[in-house]
Amino acid sequence: MRAFNFCAGPAALPTAVLNRAQSELPDWHSTGMSIMEMSHRSKDFVGAADKAEADLRSLLGIPSNYKVLFLQGGATLQFSAVPLNLLGAGQTADYIDTGIWAQGAIKEAQRYGNVNIAATSGADHYHHVPAQSTWNLTPDAAYVHYTPNETIGGLQYDFIPEVEAPLVADFSSSILSEPLDVSKFGLIYAGAQKNIGPAGLTLVIVREDLIGKAQSTIPSLLDYAKQANSGSMINTPPTFGWYLAGLVFEWLIEQGGLTAMQKLNQEKATLLYDYIDRSGFYANPINPANRSKMNVPFTLADSSLEKAFLAESTAAGLLNLAGHRSVGGMRASLYNAVPLEAVQALVAFMQDFAKRNG
Ligand code: PMP
Repeated sequence: MRAFNFCAGPAALPTAVLNRAQSELPDWHSTGMSIMEMSHRSKDFVGAADKAEADLRSLLGIPSNYKVLFLQGGATLQFSAVPLNLLGAGQTADYIDTGIWAQGAIKEAQRYGNVNIAATSGADHYHHVPAQSTWNLTPDAAYVHYTPNETIGGLQYDFIPEVEAPLVADFSSSILSEPLDVSKFGLIYAGAQKNIGPAGLTLVIVREDLIGKAQSTIPSLLDYAKQANSGSMINTPPTFGWYLAGLVFEWLIEQGGLTAMQKLNQEKATLLYDYIDRSGFYANPINPANRSKMNVPFTLADSSLEKAFLAESTAAGLLNLAGHRSVGGMRASLYNAVPLEAVQALVAFMQDFAKRNG
């Protein structure tokens, strides 16, 4: 039996995708082997890989002047790859600080070049996204980096920044959750383990004119130009993750694409936030316009009840509701593969728990 899994990542995958992967695991498409056991350069694997890219392009409407890379190393390696590829000597990159993941990107970029923190909402504990009118942007910045969804803080932008420099975004925890105008971005990256597939795969979507300017000492594997020229196959790519992401993309298309996901994700988030707000027992501190639809952190009126809440929710089949180890409290992640019924069951449990402990 599958439980309702609210993990922030690696996160729930669609049951239909897991069942399909299971059914074709030992003998993929009558090849006599699993897809994990064949050469990444074989016609069969390259066909599956190309299909995954084509489906992703169609889901997100990725323009033809963008490359899609299927890499390893997680979003964390992209914290380094972005400045190593895009930040030339003497240039400055602007970063917007909205919390723990933005800071992860900032700290790594500072190792390679000039970083200007153009805005931060640290003064109010990252409870809002700084309005773009307050950003102190650098003229001729190499790029502007932001974190559309802070997975730990539960903070999400309600706008796409309008900037002159190429816009770079860490979409790890909100990619594919709603339609996106990719043409507004210079570069998008995302670790797979939330809305894309299993951990070990990292997606990069990069505009072609930004490729080929890497610092000379950059490791080849981090060089977008070399990865793009080799079809993400300088070395062995994460073949199983790439394949499984392809199954997730097919599943998303069957569900009605990203417009259908947006509607469902809005419904799930509204259900949970509305209940939290009227409960008088649970609380979420984020400015309502910036509340994440993917990650909903919440606290209990009495923090000494947290242990009981987690033990009882786990026993009820509602898994992984503990907040990030750095902040505590609770967090429910509501990625694409978390069904509406999971959120309904969570709210029913929360109501019952509040009644018994309020
Ligand atoms: N950025 C964001 C927004 C994240 O949520 C995460 C992972 N939770 C990371 C970066 C780091 O990702 P990875 O573990 O794939 O390096």
